[in-house]
Amino acid sequence: MERILIIEDEEKIARFIELELKYEGYEVEKAFNGRDGLELVKTQPFDLILLDIMLPGINGMEVLRRIRQFSDIPIIMLTARDAVVDKVTGLDGGADDYITKPFAIEELLARIRVALRNRNRANKDKGSSQLVIGHLKLDSMKREVWVKDNLVHLTKREFDLLHYLLENKDIVLSRERILEEIWGYDFSGGTNAVDVYIRYIRAKIEEPFGLKIIHTVRGVGYVIKDE
Ligand code: CA
Repeated sequence: MERILIIEDEEKIARFIELELKYEGYEVEKAFNGRDGLELVKTQPFDLILLDIMLPGINGMEVLRRIRQFSDIPIIMLTARDAVVDKVTGLDGGADDYITKPFAIEELLARIRVALRNRNRANKDKGSSQLVIGHLKLDSMKREVWVKDNLVHLTKREFDLLHYLLENKDIVLSRERILEEIWGYDFSGGTNAVDVYIRYIRAKIEEPFGLKIIHTVRGVGYVIKDE
């Protein structure tokens, strides 16, 4: 299920959009200011963000700028009527699209579908599908992992777990989320399995090469990031 984050200080509008999106089958989180929104983007995986420009505290443009420092997630800006400058600045700042308030919900849904489709196509077009972090390179087509020019053999589960971490680079993933993604909902072995497999992976890609890229976030889970 695709997850959408709404960052919008007008709670009525945020709730309205949330209801419509849920009705369409999306999973939705809301933040009522930029700070909370940024925190969510850094700690949870999302597929798309709806970002209001006029926010108290950190405004939408600044939120956009900060998100773009670590993520290319699709972002649709919500702008006030006729604020042409906002639209241009938003698109220059790396927004994928904008929609002017007030908008028809059908138009918003259409734009969301387009942004998600473009994102999926862009991911496919990467072709070689290599994910790189520091001295580690993972090729998801060939299912190979290289560390400092050494081919490292991982089991299927280890590979899938490492791949998932890399796809969500810099984002903290909870044990529960990792478990659901890699083992599936019906797995009953408990989140301990995640810790065990993280140990296996560390023993193969970190310890022999003196790397430290998988970080434990106490009480939450794991994140992979540059040293
Ligand atoms: Ca606003």
